[in-house]
Amino acid sequence: MAHRINLERRGLLGKLGLVLSLPALALSESRPARSAQLEQLSESDPAAQALQYVSDVSRAKGADAGATCANCSLYGAAGDATQGTCQLFAGKLVKAAGWCRAWSGL
Ligand code: SF4
Repeated sequence: MAHRINLERRGLLGKLGLVLSLPALALSESRPARSAQLEQLSESDPAAQALQYVSDVSRAKGADAGATCANCSLYGAAGDATQGTCQLFAGKLVKAAGWCRAWSGL
């Protein structure tokens, strides 16, 4: 009897673990898929120009040493080390090595 209860408990815990891990799995798979749907922010975009966005910080005028999109508090990783999302440019990807005047340290 106790053996049967143990097996039922294991089965229940296994199902519970599966249910709890599904949302995490869905989130981890949605990031690359989501970033694949986003287009790259163009430096000629009026919003990008307003903030003097450049895709390569070496061409920026006025950037603090070491400041890039990758270490900006408004940057979000998008499953690709070379680019990510930015809270200021919804629906677009910015380059990790990029920069704009709204850069904000972590
Ligand atoms: Fe890059 Fe930050 Fe400017 Fe967004 S706000 S473009 S992440 S420097």
